[in-house]
Amino acid sequence: MREILIVGAGQAGLHLALGLLRNGYGVTVVSNRTPDDIRDGRVTSSQAMFGTALGHERALGLDQWPDCPPIDGIQLAVPGPDGGKAIGWAARLDEPARSVDQRLKMPAWLAEVERLGGKVVIHDATPGDLEEYAARYDLVLVAAGKGKIASLFERDAARSPYDVPQRALALTYVNGLTPRPGHSAVCFNLIPGVGEYFVFPALTVTGPCEIMVFEGIPGGPMDCWGDVFTPAEHLARSRSILETYLPWEAARCAGVELTDERGTLAGRFAPTVRRPVAVLPTGAPVLGVADVVVLNDPITGQGANNAAKCASTYLAAILERGDQPFDQAWMEDTFERYWAGARHATAWTNALLAPPPPHVLEILGAAGSLPAVASRFVNGFDDPADFAEWFMDPAAARDYLASAS
Ligand SMILES: Cc1cc2nc3c(=O)[nH]c(=O)nc-3n(C[C@H](O)[C@H](O)[C@H](O)COP(=O)(O)OP(=O)(O)OC[C@H]3O[C@@H](n4cnc5c(N)ncnc54)[C@H](O)[C@@H]3O)c2cc1C
Repeated sequence: MREILIVGAGQAGLHLALGLLRNGYGVTVVSNRTPDDIRDGRVTSSQAMFGTALGHERALGLDQWPDCPPIDGIQLAVPGPDGGKAIGWAARLDEPARSVDQRLKMPAWLAEVERLGGKVVIHDATPGDLEEYAARYDLVLVAAGKGKIASLFERDAARSPYDVPQRALALTYVNGLTPRPGHSAVCFNLIPGVGEYFVFPALTVTGPCEIMVFEGIPGGPMDCWGDVFTPAEHLARSRSILETYLPWEAARCAGVELTDERGTLAGRFAPTVRRPVAVLPTGAPVLGVADVVVLNDPITGQGANNAAKCASTYLAAILERGDQPFDQAWMEDTFERYWAGARHATAWTNALLAPPPPHVLEILGAAGSLPAVASRFVNGFDDPADFAEWFMDPAAARDYLASAS
């Protein structure tokens, strides 16, 4: 039996661990948090996942939350100068998206790892530990997300256009938010020069909820969390942003309260693509997974989706490898298989962090009267490779808009 060690018990690490266990591999997961630490800890993400990523989970029987409310579509709004909406439309997703709080999901998946015979070691892995693991295991994978250990993997400057954070991020998990009329949706609001706000249904530790996500342009008025210290202050700041910029969203919040005292988060990070393999001082290679190697801003909600896609790609590559060694060349190839898709999510996400060019404003405006354009845009969240065919290129976008109208 081949023995594989995974550092990090998050979306990618546990998905991959469970896939390997189901295929007869020996698996050890090293987690720097116990299941109780995760369950009783702070929220980490808004983790909305679309059809393809959910399909990868379903294929391994990892879809254990039938009570999670579906997200049936995406609504887009841009405020105009008069306080109303300059742009406002919605379209359905071909398959509903879902968001299960990682505080629920990861403890359940850790228990499943142990039930299937995997080992869970609670330890904050260091670079020195990696040397020891590499000597003992056939393959060492580092799926530690934004953990410090990711810095062992060299930043890939050619694939990383930004070297500082592009948004001040905040999450507010709430109950009591008035549902939008019609189908459920990610309600995505783009406030020019200020940032973005989106909100959607999810399942958290206390039951169904809504997650508010704030993406403030650094130094702007939505970069405003530095003087917020308590959960009550965080909720009050969330509401005051909406009252100032998005009155239609503020109106939905008359009765909101936090789901729990740990249902808030504020922070920022620089989007970064790293080299996939870290070669340790003894010469042993270890392979980076998901956020360790492709860390995108959450503006497009792609990170957890990419983590599932990365786990699925790596699982297939490991199974195909059979008894052959997991050497550095195999690691590089395996990452490139994942990057072939992830590069589109990355390019599109990085493009949305910049001020929208004229052709993007034309697309978002035209989608209000052209349902096919709206549908193609919202379903691109599931398959960002499609954006390369039109959205990312001004000439292709204009050709498509002309043909759609
Ligand atoms: C504000 C915000 C909103 C987001 N919203 C969305 C969204 O709506 N949709 C979406 O798809 N993505 C979203 N994401 C991104 C998504 O949550 C991540 O991309 C995804 O969780 C990455 O999975 P991962 O397995 O790579 O890392 P993680 O899920 O972060 O897991 C890493 C794990 O490794 C552990 N760890 C770290 N260092 C060590 C160590 N040295 N030893 C042992 N364990 C270690 C950590 O504690 C953690 O448990 C959001 C992110 C943020 C910050």
